[in-house]
Amino acid sequence: MSNIFRTLSLILLLTVLHLNGMTQQSFVFTPLKDDAEKLKAWNDSTDQQYRKLLSSLSKTYRKDYQSLYEDRYKQLKELAEKNKIITDAAADNYLQQLVNAIVSSNPVLKQSGYRVRFSRDYWPNAYCLGEGTIIFNIGLFTKLQNESQVASVLCHELAHQHLNHVQRSIDELVTTINSDDFRDELKRIKRSDYLQGQQLKTLMKGLTFTSRKHGRNHETSADSLALEWLKNTPFNAGGAISSLALLDNIDEDKYNVMPDLANVFNFPQYPFRKEWLHQEKTLFATMATSAQKENTKERDSLKTHPDCTKRIQLLWAKAQQYSKDNKPLSPVSEETFKRLQQQFDYEIIEYCYQQNEVSRSMYHTLQMLSKYPQDVYLTANTARCLNAFYKAQKEHALSKIVDLPSPFMDEKYEKTLQFIQNVRLNDFAAFSYYLLIAVESKTPHSELMLQALILSKQHFNKTSEQQHWMEQYKKQYPNGKFTFQ
Ligand SMILES: [Zn+2]
Repeated sequence: MSNIFRTLSLILLLTVLHLNGMTQQSFVFTPLKDDAEKLKAWNDSTDQQYRKLLSSLSKTYRKDYQSLYEDRYKQLKELAEKNKIITDAAADNYLQQLVNAIVSSNPVLKQSGYRVRFSRDYWPNAYCLGEGTIIFNIGLFTKLQNESQVASVLCHELAHQHLNHVQRSIDELVTTINSDDFRDELKRIKRSDYLQGQQLKTLMKGLTFTSRKHGRNHETSADSLALEWLKNTPFNAGGAISSLALLDNIDEDKYNVMPDLANVFNFPQYPFRKEWLHQEKTLFATMATSAQKENTKERDSLKTHPDCTKRIQLLWAKAQQYSKDNKPLSPVSEETFKRLQQQFDYEIIEYCYQQNEVSRSMYHTLQMLSKYPQDVYLTANTARCLNAFYKAQKEHALSKIVDLPSPFMDEKYEKTLQFIQNVRLNDFAAFSYYLLIAVESKTPHSELMLQALILSKQHFNKTSEQQHWMEQYKKQYPNGKFTFQ
């Protein structure tokens, strides 16, 4: 072969590889590793602080304070127990880098005992618990566009903490429920003969309304302090506006597509059936839909960060002025930012599965699969979810791992759930079997894929194929984490 020819064919080969690379995702997912020592440190400092807080309580309204602090303590412990807190070194160090960039540019923050952590929750939220902890859900992180937006959210939560907003809300709540007016009203309701529950509900509604009104004032003051801090950092102050604009319609999923059920679960040997998509229009569903219309107003006002448009208006002029210096949007590491976003998309799917939220895990998987149809983990996880549905259905325990469709949820998720309700036991087995038939020759397989393969063969009564993959598993993973019957 001549040199030129060799070079030419090499170029051709590279082009082909490159084209392949464009239709596939180069990212290979392995779940984040948690750090047992960091988790222990989290628990220890939570315990220590709680004990200190209890011993500092005065006699006034002691019981009320105690029960509110206990609720928060349980919430903090649960974050560790349910494995929500991310202690993986790379992910956590990156978050601390962002926090440090804010703190070191704002001396007022230096003395305080903050701890900021990622949580594995899929819904977009960040919150301040009031005793120093700030939680950033990875479901929010994956939806933001750059580090300046992350920094803006962090500044906002740090401002809530710095201004003691949670403590002030607790104080207000305790004072209100111990006020003469509130107590008289409570007594009157207890004495009255009718609709006690209804009256109590109204009383409590008034309570949440007051706290929400104060909450809005808190939002405004946290926003303006956060912007002053953000201005001093290496981040772009425009993040304050763009993150709010994003929060305004953030309820939509990141991969905002309806899972292509009629395509994913359509096989030559097992064609898709239209009736699987049939929507149950029962009396209950109709009633629920009209109730939803009634509730829309109230639900909107319950958003953790309400009134984004108003908040943008209040910040606009200053944010414009502060962002004139054109600082970079991601000054710490755009590469890490993007890589973690990708990692977290998968982490959400894996975590939902581990927490037995299997229908949600499959829903997010199918959404991502429509963007990355060749992704091996996503295919293996789809089969894993189907295998879990099969097992649960057989044990009449499907509702333990599958949400019930309700018109209150995202319509795309509701339709996916309706599909799960419509198919039968053997359909789950067939889906899993035929889905994996298409990829089983692409060896070597991950442990997860092998497990999915073995179970799919078992459920579809393909004993000799099951044997083959079990032997393969033993060879490849002699100390594997799965056992099979
Ligand atoms: Zn807030």
